[in-house]
Amino acid sequence: MSESPIDGVRSRGLAPGGIPREACPLCGNPQLVPFLDLRGRQLLTCSQCGVRCTDVYGPAEEIAGYYSEVQAHHGKASEVTEGEFGGDVLRAIARAQADSMEELCGPRRRGRVLEVGCSRGHLLEELELRGWEASGIDVSETSVLEARQRCQGEIHLGEVHDAPFAEGSFDRIALFDVLAHLADPVGTLLALSRLLAPGGILVLSSVDEAWPLVPVFRRLFRLFPERTAGIRDEMYEGQHYCYFSHRNVPQLLEAAGLKMARREPLAPLSTRYFVHHYSWPRRFALVSMVRLDRLLGSSRKMLVSAKRV
Ligand SMILES: [Zn+2]
Repeated sequence: MSESPIDGVRSRGLAPGGIPREACPLCGNPQLVPFLDLRGRQLLTCSQCGVRCTDVYGPAEEIAGYYSEVQAHHGKASEVTEGEFGGDVLRAIARAQADSMEELCGPRRRGRVLEVGCSRGHLLEELELRGWEASGIDVSETSVLEARQRCQGEIHLGEVHDAPFAEGSFDRIALFDVLAHLADPVGTLLALSRLLAPGGILVLSSVDEAWPLVPVFRRLFRLFPERTAGIRDEMYEGQHYCYFSHRNVPQLLEAAGLKMARREPLAPLSTRYFVHHYSWPRRFALVSMVRLDRLLGSSRKMLVSAKRV
């Protein structure tokens, strides 16, 4: 099987570890039950709220260094990704994300929007074209330097809690495929909820770990660990520290002072933009999953909107 930038764990390795996970990142429960062996780490399930998390995570400065090196994951943009898929794909992804925001929040196009994990600024650029005053945050220095050239708005290099934005200054906040990468998801969302203006809306896309096929795949991964390694790396990629679901995401939002407004199933971007670059077994597996999802009315990904309480 050929190695491609989309083959997460093999081409980008693991996000930094080193700090043992001693309690659930959502509810603080110390009882974390082994769920699955991944490459080099273990995935655990909280016995109370069902959040899945890796047994280790990294310190903030190491995480920033890691993303400055590898830049981002396939939904965003690394130089390798752009080389292989071209800037048009990245702009198409940004348009799809901006469309999702409008579908979920309404077609309003005036106001201030913040994207967390803005990578190289393709979505911010699209939002500016649509009339928004757009700002971004990212920990990757290489990405931020490029985003600053692409967009007019302020791009903060660093974390949400050290960003220079005033309380209540954004009408929209977007996190596309960011939640799973956060070492402290509650702390990050709490800081973001303070940045929302009255009536503002936070939009996030995330894996839905309560997807009905997860137990089926877990069984396959345990029975045939070698043969299913590629699909397992796609489902549980090496840059992710935690997986939420439609069952516990309302609890996460509540812990951050937010209330869930809407939730929609979201088709994985890979099927639209990357599937043709996959090897045949993975392409077959992914397309089969998407077809099965349509039959079941489910999706491995979700799009969620929330308002400040
Ligand atoms: Zn928990």
